[in-house]
Amino acid sequence: MNSNSAFGADLQPFMGIPSFMRLPVTRDLNGIDVAILGVPFDSGTSYRTGTRFGPRKIREASLMIWGHNSTLNVTPLKKLKVVDYGDVSVIPTSIEHTMDRIARTVSEILDMNVTVITLGGDHSIALPLLRAHANKFGPLSVVHIDAHIDTWEAEFEEVPFSHGTSFRHALKEGLIRGGEYIQIGIRGPVSGENDYADAKSLGARTITIHEALEKGIPGILKEVHERLKGPVYVTLDIDSADPAYAPGTGTPEVGGLSSYQLLQLVRGGHGLNLIGFDLVEVSPPFDHGDITAVLASNIAFEYLSLLAMK
Ligand code: MN
Ligand code: MN
Repeated sequence: MNSNSAFGADLQPFMGIPSFMRLPVTRDLNGIDVAILGVPFDSGTSYRTGTRFGPRKIREASLMIWGHNSTLNVTPLKKLKVVDYGDVSVIPTSIEHTMDRIARTVSEILDMNVTVITLGGDHSIALPLLRAHANKFGPLSVVHIDAHIDTWEAEFEEVPFSHGTSFRHALKEGLIRGGEYIQIGIRGPVSGENDYADAKSLGARTITIHEALEKGIPGILKEVHERLKGPVYVTLDIDSADPAYAPGTGTPEVGGLSSYQLLQLVRGGHGLNLIGFDLVEVSPPFDHGDITAVLASNIAFEYLSLLAMK
């Protein structure tokens, strides 16, 4: 044991600076496989804010992750060189400027052939993330796990971007491959009877929570694997989980997935051509006992484990 380490498994979870999984914090990407990136932004939320505190809290909750994934039987940090890249320098008063900064930062990382795991932040950050990834990989296959469709028309015409419009823009901008956009876990009251039909007409395959639970997670995964042929980007809104498992979020919807079902869903991505991931909408001010942050950090670890198995 090296008693002089500032980071790493030599430290006890309660020691040191709370980087993701006690990883080194650096922007030197030479020889690096995966970068953990925070986007502390919540000016795209329409109801309760607080997701600007998400990345920091998820990092803190990740300190208890010792490193071996006993379910998948893989130790990601033995296979991959991973760093904590820190946060995008967001501008809380400007969603448009922030989106530019996100896309620029992520493009710089992708240019180094490094895979990005992004911790949000509200779901508006998915649009610049998809732009940067599509710019690198071409149109993407997208798995969107969420309670909400997020394909709504903008509430405010002058500002067409919010956490509820990202996938409408992404589809219209051609960032997603035709027929390869799957929404999973969708539920709750919507603004009108045409919302789901609208998502469908834009090109979404919407799997409601009802369908997901009726078919079971393996049934859903079967369709995901059959449908997605391109580079797969996974975007996970923590409100896909039931508020009992994830109370710390801005727009909670009852009757959602359990922690285990979410882990099972992400794990089931093994074998897909995985090229990017974000986890959004963790709002620590509404959390209790870090329930939501602990779930979020473990889901991110699960995705990291899949990258190690590629
Ligand atoms: Mn949502
Ligand atoms: Mn969302």
